[in-house]
Amino acid sequence: MNITTVGIIGAGTMGNGIAQACAVAGLHVVMVDISDAAVARGLSTVAGSLERLLKKDKISAADRDAALARIHGSTSYDELKAAQLVIEAATENFELKVKILRQVDALLAPEVIIASNTSSISITQLAAVTGRPDRFIGMHFFNPVPMMALVEIIRGLQTSDATHEAVQAMALALGKTPITVKNAPGFAVNRILVPMINEAFFVLAEGLATPEDIDAGMKLGCNHPIGPLALADMIGLDVCLAVMEVYLREFGDSKYRPCPLLKEMVAAGRLGRKTGRGVYSY
Ligand code: NAD
Repeated sequence: MNITTVGIIGAGTMGNGIAQACAVAGLHVVMVDISDAAVARGLSTVAGSLERLLKKDKISAADRDAALARIHGSTSYDELKAAQLVIEAATENFELKVKILRQVDALLAPEVIIASNTSSISITQLAAVTGRPDRFIGMHFFNPVPMMALVEIIRGLQTSDATHEAVQAMALALGKTPITVKNAPGFAVNRILVPMINEAFFVLAEGLATPEDIDAGMKLGCNHPIGPLALADMIGLDVCLAVMEVYLREFGDSKYRPCPLLKEMVAAGRLGRKTGRGVYSY
């Protein structure tokens, strides 16, 4: 299928980042959200991001203007009908996503592919609430979308080969590198990353090393660009804890038990950068 227009549901952090990546790659974008204010915020975030790229000489003024002109913001789902691929990037809430997916499924032509950018909800389960489970897939972008090269493509049990191929080609057209993963909690990247962060909290809790030395160890010894504890502060300790709780529940394997120190810090409201204090103070 030739994808020339992409519909995006949600104009937040991920939605506007995906919109920018698509528009810069020459695709037309319809980005919808629930209020005019949310749509306007999304559009102005894209404009600000492109402005910074212009200042760094990463994009020309003409290309910036052309990219912005390709993004159309709206509060009407009807406008998504122009798209051959619709990417759902709304708030991470199962009931909300089911409601949105039922609504767009009823609206879109049968051949349109629907993708979800969810980081934790089962793609197989979301596919099953639509009338097109074979044309449903996970497209897990990473934050900030315009900078991050990876798209994790998640195949639900029902996803067809044709859908997978179309979405893979689309990710390549965005200049991204896709990897393909079968549906399972955390997919592949977060399944590896978050338990590693949890283990860093165990190392800290056992008093084996200081936070600075744990982070320096993983940066210098494993070539990670950022240490696991500094990364936890960026992601949010509450988010890391919630993810571990999902793995523990879904897999029923005690290897996913959250570190008590992580729980304790969350209980104290030390959630990381967003609260000014996590493992480190900001
Ligand atoms: P966000 O809160 O920044 O944005 C969500 C947007 O969805 C908001 O603008 C909200 O108004 C909008 N929304 C809510 N209900 C809607 C509806 N019915 N129709 C249209 N829009 C609606 O959240 P985010 O960080 O952009 O996350 C979006 C999705 O991306 C989530 O599923 C999340 O798990 C996933 N994700 C997030 C990250 C990240 O680092 N933030 C990374 C990968 C995936």
